[in-house]
Amino acid sequence: MVVETNELARKLLDIARADPDDYARLEVPDSDLAPLVVAVNLFLERIRHEHEVLRRDASVGRRMLEASTVGVVLVDGDGLISYVNPTARRMLPPRVEPMGRKPIVAFPIAELQEVVSLAMSGVEPEPVECNLGRMDIIVTASDLPGGGAMVTLRDVTGDREAQRARTDFVANVSHELRTPVTAIMGYAETMLLERERLPEDLAAMLEKIDRNARRLRDLFEDLLQLHRIESRRRELPLAEHALRPILEEAVIGAADKAVQRGQSFTLTCPASMVANCNPEALRTMVANLASNAVNYTPSGGNIAVTATETSDEVVVSVVDDGIGIDPVHQQRIFERFYRVDDARSRALGGTGLGLALVKHLALASRSRISVESAAGRGSRFRIHLRKVRR
Ligand code: ADP
Repeated sequence: MVVETNELARKLLDIARADPDDYARLEVPDSDLAPLVVAVNLFLERIRHEHEVLRRDASVGRRMLEASTVGVVLVDGDGLISYVNPTARRMLPPRVEPMGRKPIVAFPIAELQEVVSLAMSGVEPEPVECNLGRMDIIVTASDLPGGGAMVTLRDVTGDREAQRARTDFVANVSHELRTPVTAIMGYAETMLLERERLPEDLAAMLEKIDRNARRLRDLFEDLLQLHRIESRRRELPLAEHALRPILEEAVIGAADKAVQRGQSFTLTCPASMVANCNPEALRTMVANLASNAVNYTPSGGNIAVTATETSDEVVVSVVDDGIGIDPVHQQRIFERFYRVDDARSRALGGTGLGLALVKHLALASRSRISVESAAGRGSRFRIHLRKVRR
């Protein structure tokens, strides 16, 4: 019995050291150990089967990765590359053989390094788009169970080209139509100089022509400006500037209009406050937000533009106590031509592009826009300008 037990233990040790594929069935002895050996054989069979299933899954997974049109790079728990699929090799030809190397050594792309570091530290990074000269790709990364990260690379060159072709077309059309519209406006204005000599109905028609031509001109100007920002590949240059003069200039038009509409308009910004910003972009953003605040607030309402500072941000707020925006619309108002109330916006001469412009300028100048509002309760738009770390 003792001999049999020892022999069984030795055989089990041999099996434990072997590859699951080579697990041999144990011969069932004619003794008390028979049930134990039968149970061991059943376990061995199960392990062999599960090993086979795992191997098949791994092989299917690998084939899917090899055939995928998405580039995939796997990084192990030590931060070294453990796999690169053929698409990733095609998109980012590695500088050296990548296996076993740090991503930054094989693929010296700052954006890739950034998302991998974030994913490895357990923070889910936002997808980032990078331009590699001939190609636009979106890089994402996520951490893997048990350590390491998976980086995916999506080629969006075709999408971006189509988008560029579309916006180029719109910009060209706007550019071509700007001149005739300016001519129409010029003629209407000239004829209106003689208003008192014109029959009343003709003067009214000319005023309509003038008003509509101006709307068209504003629309073309906004489309062209949006196109200029979008087609810029690089971010706008930022530097430290005194904030108050920028805000004072930005709100001139809106403040005048507020007076005409019987609204109170205040600007509060300490003279000493500086902000890391692109003055032109900031001026356009504040001018658009302030103009909206005036437009969407009834006569007698209040509009306040204020600049405040926290330890890491300078925040410019544009606050009104006007009609407000229901939360269901708040994400969409930054899309081109999205209006909560189409008729009201058009009646106010809005192009429907103001907030799209604000969003793009914020992106291009590394700032952020936030909005707090409720229908009937007014709105608070904020521009968050990041401070420079010293
Ligand atoms: P528009 O030219 O129509 O004003 P915008 O892009 O500037 O276009 O704004 C989009 C829409 O967002 C507006 O049509 C309006 O419905 C809403 N909106 C923007 N600012 C405000 C505000 N301060 N109060 C209420 N609604 C606003």
